[in-house]
Amino acid sequence: LFVSFEGPEGAGKTTIIDMLIEDLKKEGFQAISTREPGGIEIAEQIREVILNKNNTAMDARTEALLYAAARRQHLVEKVKPALEAGNVLLCDRFIDSSLAYQGFARGLGIDEVLSINQFAIEDMMPRVTFYFDLDPKIGLERIHKNDGREVNRLDLEKIEFHQKVREGYLIVADRYPERIVKIDASRPLQQVFDEAKGKLKQILIP
Ligand code: C5P
Ligand code: MG
Repeated sequence: LFVSFEGPEGAGKTTIIDMLIEDLKKEGFQAISTREPGGIEIAEQIREVILNKNNTAMDARTEALLYAAARRQHLVEKVKPALEAGNVLLCDRFIDSSLAYQGFARGLGIDEVLSINQFAIEDMMPRVTFYFDLDPKIGLERIHKNDGREVNRLDLEKIEFHQKVREGYLIVADRYPERIVKIDASRPLQQVFDEAKGKLKQILIP
């Protein structure tokens, strides 16, 4: 089962993925987590280029293509084999990040970005996507409390950019209601976890 997690920084995606993996394993499921951009060596190298804070000259289309390239390699090298081996695979970000960030917030167009991603992923889409909806102001406050975190190029963006990302995510969520489950991530972590866990279990044990 292929599951992706979406939402802004500070929404709790990574933390909740870790909690879900622990829970799934306890219940006897074979489960692994991974992230985008990254997850395997080549894609982590591409991530380093995309997020390097010195790469301020990067063009928006270049950025969109690099995300799609990282996605392709990660799918082929890691996601596909893991799914074929029967894992529940929880992926921190996937195509909807590209649609919201590059397609909507950077203004490239959701359909244009969708089309390069269709080329990259062929038919390998998540069965379900949990979108953690959050006011970016809250998200940014949460990550600034997280001291150990490395500064990336996106940290140079203004709050308006992050507001547009949220607007983009909401448009994408409305477009794919059968795949995308919206979760209110402004609540305490445990509540967000319980809701995600409940919905995931419904799919795993129908
Ligand atoms: O989720 P994570 O913190 O690993 O994301 C790394 C950075 O990449 C974040 O700052 C996120 O906002 C940005 N990003 C982006 N476009 C994407 C995916 C992630 O700008 N398609
Ligand atoms: Mg994270």
